[in-house]
Amino acid sequence: MMKAVRLHGIGDFRCDQIPIPVPRGEELLIKVGACGICGSDLPRVFSHGTSNGKYPLTIGHEFAGEVAAAGELADPGLIGSKGAIFPLIPCRKCDPCVTGNYAMCEQYDYLGSRRDGGFAQYCLIPSAWNLVTAKNASLEALAMTEPACVAQHAVRKTGVSAGQLVVIFGAGPIGILAARWAQIFGARTLLVDIMPEKVAFARKLGLSAVDSGEVELSGEIRRRNQGRLADAAIEGTGAGAALCSCVECVRAKGSIALLGNPAGETRMPLKVHSMILRKEITVNGVWNSSRSPYPVDEWAFTVRMLDEGKLTVTDLITHRISLEELPRRMEEIRDGSIHVVKAVCTN
Ligand SMILES: [Zn+2]
Ligand SMILES: [Zn+2]
Repeated sequence: MMKAVRLHGIGDFRCDQIPIPVPRGEELLIKVGACGICGSDLPRVFSHGTSNGKYPLTIGHEFAGEVAAAGELADPGLIGSKGAIFPLIPCRKCDPCVTGNYAMCEQYDYLGSRRDGGFAQYCLIPSAWNLVTAKNASLEALAMTEPACVAQHAVRKTGVSAGQLVVIFGAGPIGILAARWAQIFGARTLLVDIMPEKVAFARKLGLSAVDSGEVELSGEIRRRNQGRLADAAIEGTGAGAALCSCVECVRAKGSIALLGNPAGETRMPLKVHSMILRKEITVNGVWNSSRSPYPVDEWAFTVRMLDEGKLTVTDLITHRISLEELPRRMEEIRDGSIHVVKAVCTN
């Protein structure tokens, strides 16, 4: 038997004892080492439920572990190897899939939102393709691969290059990870947030960060960028006001990556809308991350950077939670009675 924290209905989230699943065919059984709580898990538990109405469902999609058993068609040599889990299960038939754009699959399955995921002691994955094997990185660090890949993908979508300045709106874990990737790519970064504690946390990690309520942003950017506006901006909050600020703070021919999921209707003043035209700003949508070899397998690259110690992620973990504690801690996160940057569930 194993512990699995399952959603039985909206708001009904419990740690259950259930049988350990048995891998069949190409499936691998993963002994989960760590699983991060994603911002999207809160509405999943408390307001939206599972994406396909399947209950009970073990949620959690940001996880890593070790191969404990292999199905009869899987490579038994993988048993004992560790890695990050790629949670998306693409159909491999639709047009986005056949062109390698799995994140845009029209009929996908997903570990932790549509089928059982990582808030459990064990989890089945469909095949070795969903395992990105690692050598040195810790399981906690590997559990941060998914948000790190999303952040990396957003930075790539800005097209920012060495020597340029990218402004990142939202100094939460993804914003901080985006700043780290931009620096790896040789760019300079400025994080912007409206919450002083987030600005303070980012600064404590050695990143440049400003409170948008305290500075006049375009002036601040010009001061940091030899009198020029930013080369690129990442909108990481989902707020319409931040999108407008992105438009105002990038230079002519600059680019914006839209990463934050919109939280409501986006309104844009006429002046800002026409600024997109006048500056010929390139606006890019960002959706998840790439697991295809072309243009680059962001998952393999992230895991390699974690293995080589070139990307640090575990300093974002402010809370470590057991499976039994998880339902109560999720309520506390929702109520705001605990403030987490990144919380990771460990077994
Ligand atoms: Zn996530
Ligand atoms: Zn597909």
